[in-house]
Amino acid sequence: MNVLLVDDDLVDRKHIQRTLKRGSADIIVVEAENVDLGLEQLKDNKFDVVLCDFNMPRKNGMDMINALKVSNSSDAKLGTPIIIISTSEDDDLAVRCLEAGAQDFLTKTDITGFRLRRAIASAKTRFKLEERLVRSHKKIQIMAEQDGLTKLANRHMFDIRLEQTLNELKRNKENKERVALILLDLDHFKDVNDNYGHDVGDELLQRVVNRIKGCLRGSEVFARLGGDEFAIILPQLESVHIADKVGGRILKVLEKPFLIKGVMVSIGASIGIAFCPDNAQNRTEIFKFADIAMYKAKALGRNQIAFFEDDMQKQFLARLEAETRLRKAVKAKSFELHYQPVFNGDDLNEIGYEALIRWVADDNPMRPDEFIPIAEETRLINELGQWIIDQAIHQLSLWNNTNKESINFKAKKMAINLSPVQLSDINLSSFIKGCLDKYKVPAEMIEFELTETALLDVSEQTITVIESISKLGCHIALDDFGTGYSSISHLHQFPIDTVKIDKSLMPTGKEKEKNYKLVRGLVAMANSLELNIVAEGVETLEQVEMCQKLNIQCLQGFFLSRPLSVSHIDDMHRALSKRKQISLDR
Ligand code: C2E
Ligand code: CA
Ligand code: CA
Repeated sequence: MNVLLVDDDLVDRKHIQRTLKRGSADIIVVEAENVDLGLEQLKDNKFDVVLCDFNMPRKNGMDMINALKVSNSSDAKLGTPIIIISTSEDDDLAVRCLEAGAQDFLTKTDITGFRLRRAIASAKTRFKLEERLVRSHKKIQIMAEQDGLTKLANRHMFDIRLEQTLNELKRNKENKERVALILLDLDHFKDVNDNYGHDVGDELLQRVVNRIKGCLRGSEVFARLGGDEFAIILPQLESVHIADKVGGRILKVLEKPFLIKGVMVSIGASIGIAFCPDNAQNRTEIFKFADIAMYKAKALGRNQIAFFEDDMQKQFLARLEAETRLRKAVKAKSFELHYQPVFNGDDLNEIGYEALIRWVADDNPMRPDEFIPIAEETRLINELGQWIIDQAIHQLSLWNNTNKESINFKAKKMAINLSPVQLSDINLSSFIKGCLDKYKVPAEMIEFELTETALLDVSEQTITVIESISKLGCHIALDDFGTGYSSISHLHQFPIDTVKIDKSLMPTGKEKEKNYKLVRGLVAMANSLELNIVAEGVETLEQVEMCQKLNIQCLQGFFLSRPLSVSHIDDMHRALSKRKQISLDR
């Protein structure tokens, strides 16, 4: 055991040294005759304990206690236990020394070998306990302020720092500066977790944080608010453009995919920005407004930056209400499928249907083109979409079976619309397979309609999902053909069987000639690629005749039939088979 003995009195030093050594042979005692020399020793050597006289000229025992405390805070070793020895029997002094950080206090008259050794042993134990306490206190403090995974500030710390920053802004009003709050949410992060597991998700978060850090100077507060949501406080901005620049830089650095555990992962982010005092006056407001702006960025199609604007709040509330209604409707399954018949271009016989969803509500039901985008953004489309697939396949099995007896029966086909969001679900094709098996419907009777926007995302995932649906034997149609961007390249890249020429291209009115030529061109192109063609939005006899002239195989539109409810179609089928029966009987 190493003991540092600090005492200005040589006689006392020798006495204590002897007393200590008498009890055990393996004690090394280093002597110092004042505090400064003692501290010198402590710098170079590790001692188990310091025995320090209280009354010394210039610096006394309290100075030693304090010096050790200072080194405690800056030094990882946390210092050395210290026992104060004194000629004084003053109880107050003893208490003061203990409060200041000494582990024990002994009067010189009391010193015996036994007492000293016991005091040293208990001082060491006490010191260790204190050390442990300090460490766990520090840990708790870090845990309370830091996010464990990314080591960024957590929500709690972020709130404190935002409050501080805004207070400072208020104090220095005359500087005419502003604070920007950037909220950032990763797009479709959940898919990464679902598809590749949480390990990949966690590493992605860390790597994203590192890239974002590279866009910051280091003086900003960068926090993880939870999950895949982050916040950055930019203080003391002279111009709002700086926030825009930082946001732009962040989106840019996230563009390159991440290679994590052997898989390439792409991730975008939606960024919302609000300013104080320009938009908001306090912490709650700036947070709410940045959140609304972020929401807007998501609605704009993700991977975007949106700034808070004043009318956003109104729009936001309306949107929120719509979303709440939709959530309830999905839960209560307040939907129905209607089916729009598709006709053979030559003989105008019904050859199949397209399933189109309808919201069943007493007051103010939304149209599909209103609520499908909300369902996509909120990902409710995944649940809703599975319900649609199940219902439509079930309905087709009912129709095809009941009609089997009738003459000239040809099983009909069913077209089902798929949202791009559904294509990020790698289990989609096995779900479809499950429905086909359950209702005993051959895969080739089902065609899934995708819009070009779905195909714009050429991620490996999307391609895999589309290919696996095609491999089941289901057909794939490109919906709204002719309205998109780069139709031809898509036709090559994906296993597409059919194109549906968009209804906006049906020749009519002033654009008749121009649209006719356009459709003729699209038909020629589709024919050369041996694709099946459906013309949708056929509203007049003239358009039917035009489609026939162009040899378009399938027609769909209000002129031939609107989308109809199941009972409506059933009634029609019954009437039709009755007519056939009568003509047979004759
Ligand atoms: P879409 O897939 O292009 O569907 C065709 C839309 O055109 C339907 O509107 C249909 O009622 C309408 N339509 C059919 N014939 C004519 C016509 O001759 N003239 C005119 N002006 N319109 C015609 P709807 O049912 O309101 O659906 C709108 C869009 O909502 C659909 O466009 C589709 O993108 C989406 N949608 C509808 N149902 C579903 C669904 O079950 N799943 C998904 N993912 N999307 C759906
Ligand atoms: Ca469609
Ligand atoms: Ca369409």
